[in-house]
Amino acid sequence: MHTVSKRTLMDKTAPNRSTGIINGKSSNVLNWDDVRFPWAYPKYKKMLSNFWTPFEINMAQDIKQFPNLSEAEQDTFLKIIGLLALLDSIQTDYAGKVADYLTDSSLNALMIMLAQQEVIHNHSYSYVLSSLVSKQKQDEVFEFWRTEPILERRNDFVVRGYRDFVEQPNVEHLLKSIVFDVILEGLFFYSGFAFFYHLARNQKMVATSTMINYINRDEHIHVDLFVKIFKEILNEYPEYKKKLEPFVQQTFLQAAELEIEWARYIIGHRIDGIFINEVEDYIKFYANVRANQLGYDRPFEGYRKNPLRWIKAYEEVDLGKSDFFEQKSRQYTKVNYVDNGFDEL
Ligand code: ZN
Ligand code: ZN
Repeated sequence: MHTVSKRTLMDKTAPNRSTGIINGKSSNVLNWDDVRFPWAYPKYKKMLSNFWTPFEINMAQDIKQFPNLSEAEQDTFLKIIGLLALLDSIQTDYAGKVADYLTDSSLNALMIMLAQQEVIHNHSYSYVLSSLVSKQKQDEVFEFWRTEPILERRNDFVVRGYRDFVEQPNVEHLLKSIVFDVILEGLFFYSGFAFFYHLARNQKMVATSTMINYINRDEHIHVDLFVKIFKEILNEYPEYKKKLEPFVQQTFLQAAELEIEWARYIIGHRIDGIFINEVEDYIKFYANVRANQLGYDRPFEGYRKNPLRWIKAYEEVDLGKSDFFEQKSRQYTKVNYVDNGFDEL
């Protein structure tokens, strides 16, 4: 078993460019032109250019529309916000903990930016709720994670994966926790995203959906960053590639099952115009995408195409292929195709 050690605060004898992704040597001085991984700087630029805050989003129209949503739509809306608030809260902390063990100061910097974005995501949930519902209701939404058993099962699943790493940090636990991370950021948000995009395509709650779209765009970058870190660790510790295979398969199958259970509960047959069997296929599709990104076999036979064809327009806003929302904040993001890394996904 390989241990993993924390980055030292300063090391006069070590180079600025680190000697390994983990367990290496580094002075801890950050010079973006002298970092170990060529993808780190483009990632930094991309994360900077995507900067946004909830204050840019005008909630006036959503405030008018919210009371006119069906009871089921309102309930689903609030439950999803409650779930996302929990996931983003945990994520802020997890990113910081991983950062401590990455030798290269540039990767530490990226993790800090990632964590800062999670803080903004959390802020956005408070921002939306304080616009739409009473303070009492808002507080209730932030308590859902304690009281909803389906949510509890799902959250415990991820938290357990994170906790093993936090309590017993070693290379295997770090790698496994990254698999849980990719599930959290790249799968567990997705039935929630689908619901908000479904509202938006019916011209409902477009401001909230725009915000969700920004969050989706950020999560997309986060998944890619963690996948890169995962692969770099495997480059240095190749024996784990094969060793983790059954774990990865099993974990993705279980994660998809939990996400489907959650989707049935919040979307089920109660939201007009969105079909639960399509959402289930969408979840299996994403489980396949994520396992494949990590370099493993897809856990579900088939499911190679996104079954929610309409959703692509929303998910791909990011890639500059379309722009469904007319919010002004969209304009300042200039995507540089050369170094944004999307072509690798
Ligand atoms: Zn987030
Ligand atoms: Zn994230």
